[in-house]
Amino acid sequence: MPELPEVECLRRSLEPHLLGRRIVSAELRRSDFCTVSPGYPRGSPPGELLLAGAVVKAMHRVGKHLALEADDGRVLEIHLGMSGQVRVHEDGSAEEPDRHVHAMWRLGRDHRAGAVMTLRDPRRFGGLWAFRSLETLHSERWCVVGPDALTIEAQTLASRLQHTSRAIKTTLLDQAILAGVGNIYADEALFAAGIHPQRPARRLSRAEVDVLANVIRSTLANAIQAKGSTLRDYADANGQSGESQLMHHVYGRGGEPCSRCGTVLKSIVLAQRTTTFCPACQPRNPGRTPAGTRSRARM
Ligand SMILES: [Zn+2]
Repeated sequence: MPELPEVECLRRSLEPHLLGRRIVSAELRRSDFCTVSPGYPRGSPPGELLLAGAVVKAMHRVGKHLALEADDGRVLEIHLGMSGQVRVHEDGSAEEPDRHVHAMWRLGRDHRAGAVMTLRDPRRFGGLWAFRSLETLHSERWCVVGPDALTIEAQTLASRLQHTSRAIKTTLLDQAILAGVGNIYADEALFAAGIHPQRPARRLSRAEVDVLANVIRSTLANAIQAKGSTLRDYADANGQSGESQLMHHVYGRGGEPCSRCGTVLKSIVLAQRTTTFCPACQPRNPGRTPAGTRSRARM
């Protein structure tokens, strides 16, 4: 599933194709793939919802949410869900779209004629959200999204963790608390911070939260540098896969030795997601039995 680094890489790879460019026409191939803001009159044509006729003025991202802002004020949010892919074919060579392509855009000729952008999402957990302005995007949808994880400050994170007794791993996945971290980067950040995934969020010391905020930012920034993680089918707007998965220390590595200490990595299920961690580097009761047999036995 694309997380913040993959969505940010998509944004960066889309910008050269889209900024300042006119969307000549747009086709919504599945009407239930686009959620329409109440600000639009009922029955607004799909092309209008998908920014047809407008020039793309800006691209915005918070967490895993990406939005295109048009010069006439209209805004279209793209969410990739589990398997969404946005691809630009500058030569217009998009093969005949299959049933998983839910939206298509024809782009203006300021670059080259006939360029096509497609949104493909086989599992359909993603979607489009159409708004008449940036203000309505924020007031109707992004208002419930937490602060962006790429720039999270320790003070902000501390204040958002202190009221929840949920496990820290579960809390980091809550997009209303912190936006952009999913299963991969939550496991990687907790490993880097040496924090056990099941510890209650509000019990973390301020020093631990300082470290955690730091490693969340650096883990995400490093993943962006590596062009994101490609596990199954993620690729950017040009079809380029990422290489961040080669840097994963714990995610998907349950049963393998810890890269730091050699202890066998353990996998458990938390909030219906597989969580992998090192029982020695991430003790359940830090300070009481540092990396000792007792804390390991309590797993
Ligand atoms: Zn370890």
